[in-house]
Amino acid sequence: MQTNSSSAPASPHVLIFPLPLQGTVNSMLKLAEILCISDINVTFVVTDHIHSRLLRNSNVVSRFSKYPGFVLQSISDGLPKEHPRGGSRYIEMFESMKLNSKPLLKELLTSGWLDRGRGPVTCIIADGVMSFVCDVANDIGVNIFCTRTLSACSLSIFFSLPKLIEAGELPFTGGDLDTPIKSVPAMEKFLRRRDLPSFCRSDTLSGPSIQLFKNENQENARAQGLILNTFEDIEGPVLENIRAFCPNLYTIGPLHAHLKMKLAAKSCYTASSNSLRKEDRSCMSWLDSQACKSVIYVSFGSIATMTKDQLMEFWCGLVNSECKFLWVIRPDLIAGDGEIPEEVLEGTKERGYIVGWAPQEEVLGHQSVGGFLTHSGWNSTLESVVEGVPMICWPYFMDQQVNSRFVSEVWKLGLDMKDTCDRVIVERMVKDLMVKRKDEFLKSADRMANLAMKSLSEGGSSYSNLERLIQDIKTISVVHKEAKKQQ
Ligand code: UDP
Repeated sequence: MQTNSSSAPASPHVLIFPLPLQGTVNSMLKLAEILCISDINVTFVVTDHIHSRLLRNSNVVSRFSKYPGFVLQSISDGLPKEHPRGGSRYIEMFESMKLNSKPLLKELLTSGWLDRGRGPVTCIIADGVMSFVCDVANDIGVNIFCTRTLSACSLSIFFSLPKLIEAGELPFTGGDLDTPIKSVPAMEKFLRRRDLPSFCRSDTLSGPSIQLFKNENQENARAQGLILNTFEDIEGPVLENIRAFCPNLYTIGPLHAHLKMKLAAKSCYTASSNSLRKEDRSCMSWLDSQACKSVIYVSFGSIATMTKDQLMEFWCGLVNSECKFLWVIRPDLIAGDGEIPEEVLEGTKERGYIVGWAPQEEVLGHQSVGGFLTHSGWNSTLESVVEGVPMICWPYFMDQQVNSRFVSEVWKLGLDMKDTCDRVIVERMVKDLMVKRKDEFLKSADRMANLAMKSLSEGGSSYSNLERLIQDIKTISVVHKEAKKQQ
């Protein structure tokens, strides 16, 4: 299914294919809009499942209608409608896409459907964990840039997995998660077993996640370059390790703030939504009535789940902290068939506000928000960094375990609560972040926010790397078209 039609003149034409998840679709749509602003035609390919959710809950179609070179295209992931496509079954999605989406993508690229008015696709930008897209690009002779929308610190660990195995640090048995890990460059001083991606907590190497990330990661080196949603000042030392595998690195983040700056420069910034769920904006007026930096925002992203008992620990800890809180409780946050207990809804009225999904970027930018209790997803982390909001981290899986270690130990932007879920600890940490150590955390958060903005300003690292990426896309397009003419 295709949304939007196009009559733009032929210029570079990029096909973007993100991983079908909220965080990746969100950040890749930001990149798509940045490219559109730079007069590059973009075909944004999503799975049918993501497509229908975007149409239902976001303003993507109306927002992009001002870019005639943009097309939103969907293809099947091969899974039945009712498949959850997340949680513990995300591996099934990878497998199905490899089998079913790969031929569809190839057909899309070779059929000529996408060319009308915009010329042929001259390069592809796809998530580097979907190496089948690299195969398609190689088969049809189109250049490909890989992108990874998680942190460089987690990516650096993925690249180091063979080294960890060789050094005997993986797999490990036994319960001592505080054992130091020494084989990841630039992390020797603070990394522990418990900070490794969650799939490393296994006494075998045969698990599907570890295999996926060990093998697919090495494929990134086949691409023209690797695009990362990060900035040099925050992850400089670990980026050096990644450059050893992928020398042509484009660090162009934080993407959401980068887009905001580009739009502001054209005086056309309006708050945008790439939400796959319906946003409840009533929380914005609730925030308007709260004191400056008095509210802790609580959200565990789009995938994480918890038990009803864990939810009660968070709730009691939040209430006992006596701080105001805004809490995103997705309908599917409680694992199994748990419902939000009545006492949580009732007891929250005095001090808190609950929504099913929030306009998060706006919430974090609101003057009443002074802290973020987060699952440490990379998009959430960057959104908090940009707004100078300190964090309490309760990582759920994958890259979140290492992100939370960097937040607390390296960047000093907050506290890491990983592997505990106890009302007393929640209460203590909320009080520490919002009251006792408030000035200390706000100072370092403010410093990091300034570094982020510096990287996006003219001459900054992310600004310059984006210019270089755009230039490279344009050069590739000329070469591609010349080569096609001579065939
Ligand atoms: N998000 C949102 N509203 C919410 C919760 C999350 O808009 O109520 C957005 C958030 O701004 C972020 C994305 O969902 O861009 C979550 O991505 P992240 O990488 O943080 O975590 P994931 O959902 O992939 O675990």
